[in-house]
Amino acid sequence: MTAYHLLAKPTGAICNLDCDYCFFLSKEELYPGSTFRMSEETLSEYLRQYLESQIGPDIQIAWQGGEPTLMGLEFFRRSVALAEKHRRVGTRVTYSIQTNGTLLDDEWCRFLRQHRVLVGLSLDGPRDLHDAYRHDKGGHPTFDKVMRALRLLQAHEVDVNVLTSVHAANAEHPLEVYRFLRDEAGVRFIQTIPIVERDDSAPHDGSRVTSRSVTGAQYGEFLTAIFDEWVERDVGEVFVQMFDVALASWFGEPHGLCVHSETCGAALAMEHNGDLYSCDHFVEAEHLLGNIHRRHMSSLASSEAQMAFGRAKRESLPRQCRQCDVRFACHGGCPKDRILESADGEPGLNYLCDGYLRFFRHVRPAMERMCALLRAGRAPAEIVSERSLGEPRE
Ligand code: SF4
Ligand code: SF4
Repeated sequence: MTAYHLLAKPTGAICNLDCDYCFFLSKEELYPGSTFRMSEETLSEYLRQYLESQIGPDIQIAWQGGEPTLMGLEFFRRSVALAEKHRRVGTRVTYSIQTNGTLLDDEWCRFLRQHRVLVGLSLDGPRDLHDAYRHDKGGHPTFDKVMRALRLLQAHEVDVNVLTSVHAANAEHPLEVYRFLRDEAGVRFIQTIPIVERDDSAPHDGSRVTSRSVTGAQYGEFLTAIFDEWVERDVGEVFVQMFDVALASWFGEPHGLCVHSETCGAALAMEHNGDLYSCDHFVEAEHLLGNIHRRHMSSLASSEAQMAFGRAKRESLPRQCRQCDVRFACHGGCPKDRILESADGEPGLNYLCDGYLRFFRHVRPAMERMCALLRAGRAPAEIVSERSLGEPRE
């Protein structure tokens, strides 16, 4: 059996919002005329196959969209009941859901709390920065609705991980975003997602991106500015996924972020009808592995097509990456963003390369110090007090 993680998309790409940078909405075209609602049969089949093919002991069930809450709460109650029915003895199921939060209410929050569902909530910063691109189908801003959801989740003590897209509107305001999330929103877990949107109006120039996209330089500055504040005062208090991932890489431990892993292939996506794709960012005909109603999910996940997809991330690295001093932490980033040519003219360099290079080189001294603390059996968070006392930083 191959270890893999599955993102289930019960409403496919359908969402109640209309954020400018959303890459999912165009995926509706893959299923013309579909209702985009997962049937009972597919729900049951997917959970049975997934749970019987996972080794455990901890198994994560992850829901994503579009907007998965559009399925209604009853769908998720049935999902939990089915997961309990199908899970193997000795395994424990944990749940996560990614949502824009706008449909959450007290009843939803009680359910999320009861089943310890980790909620990934999209919030791009304070009002103006969030509302720059995140609006509903009528063009109305969404900040107040998302903040209402966050407060509701916090009141119900639901675990929340904020997903902050980094784009042209907020990229130049890293500390404003970070301090807002930390101090006003009261968020402890933050994930940054760089927006890199290819420009469809320039089909002959694959390296052209939309004006909403963050540049590599901006993304690098965004991360380093936040890192500098975090390392002086927030280590162990605020968890920024990119910093945890970097520390794991420096320490030589695996981490869960595919973008900076050596290979892909362990994070599959399943559409509402049971179609299984290599990755949520490659929900397209070329990367359709098959349908779980016709072939078992674990067989599709371990198919040669999927293995090749996974290996391609490493095997297609240009020489510039292969010789890069931070390759062990970067691994060339996500293949979907490898749209540039390297300095010596090879294709396949990541659009965010200069940002990754800047960030990973910048954090090296602090990462090495935190690794030394870890090896000494001490907490990486001690770096904060060391710095306040002006102790040596090597
Ligand atoms: S293609 Fe990108 S998002 Fe998909 S598994 Fe690979 S690194 Fe992750
Ligand atoms: S920093 Fe740039 S050159 Fe280095 S591995 Fe990452 S993408 Fe490749």
